Amino acid sequence: DSLGPTVTVGEILVEIVATKIGVGFREPVELLGPFPSGAPAIFVDQCGRIGGSAALIGAVGSDDFGFVNIERLKRDGVDVSAIAVSPDYPTGSAFVRYRTDGSRDFVYNIGTSAAARFSWTEKVEALVTRSGHLHVMGSALSMPSAWTVIEKAAQVIKARGGTLSLDPNLRKELKYDDQTEARFAQLVAMSNLLLPSGDELERAAGVEGEAASIARLFELGVGEIVLKRGREGASCFLRDGTRVDAAAFDVKEIDPTGAGDCFGGAYIACRRLGMPVEQALLYGCAAGARNVTVRGPMEGAGTRAELDDFIRTTKRLT
Ligand code: ATP
Ligand code: MG
Repeated sequence: DSLGPTVTVGEILVEIVATKIGVGFREPVELLGPFPSGAPAIFVDQCGRIGGSAALIGAVGSDDFGFVNIERLKRDGVDVSAIAVSPDYPTGSAFVRYRTDGSRDFVYNIGTSAAARFSWTEKVEALVTRSGHLHVMGSALSMPSAWTVIEKAAQVIKARGGTLSLDPNLRKELKYDDQTEARFAQLVAMSNLLLPSGDELERAAGVEGEAASIARLFELGVGEIVLKRGREGASCFLRDGTRVDAAAFDVKEIDPTGAGDCFGGAYIACRRLGMPVEQALLYGCAAGARNVTVRGPMEGAGTRAELDDFIRTTKRLT
């Protein structure tokens, strides 16, 4: 952590969620929001809230939706110096409605909002040159503005002895072009830590099967792989052959959005604060589980004290 903050790059959004389960938005429905959101924002908020040094590169509009995000991040100790405020575009947004089977319908405004309009500025450079770790979200790779910043930031941070992590959360339903796939492969090979869930492990490795994927990723130079398995908990694989498993916490899921991002924010903060894998997994699982018990994408992100309390009072699944 002494090298400087954990920095991440990408979309900052508000989420507005339908209060009743159903299909889409073709008739008036009751809505709740705006909630601060966007995978990189959720990640970095949990990272800061647990006590990690954390910063975000992105953009919001000069409007209340932007205010909601910046105030929340500041409150939770996140460095917002490299968040641009666009005078021309509104803050990104996502309207979300859950279906009975747990799937979701969305109306997004990301690509044509401030969320996608950030670049390598003096403030970004000032932040990156004092950062110690870059966390990359696979979902950001399809944004052209994000790639420019990520590529440069990765070089600068690695050159000063910093580290890189990747949550390869490419959207399963999307087919990516060759350039995006090539960038993804380049990032995998640069990563010290990988945080896949489900079939993202095989996708990152480019081979089939869990054991073969893990072996391949170590060959590529990855040092630590943390596999997220929802209610099955999480497992960490280290290059020396060590495997550490952690059971999930038994909670009632109210809103699944943000579990993986909160897990990652807590895990990386803990590792960078010098905690062993076991303890980082415990806090990661607690952060993911606590967040799904509260409506809103980052409303359940916990402080260290809140997570300690959660751990003391919540049963583990086995
Ligand atoms: P997301 O669904 O946000 O993309 P992900 O697929 O990246 O998340 P998950 O495995 O779903 O990651 O969640 C990360 C961690 O959070 C899990 O390892 C688990 O410890 C915890 N978690 C997530 N969902 C639940 C749940 N319903 N009950 C208990 N713990 C959960
Ligand atoms: Mg995920």
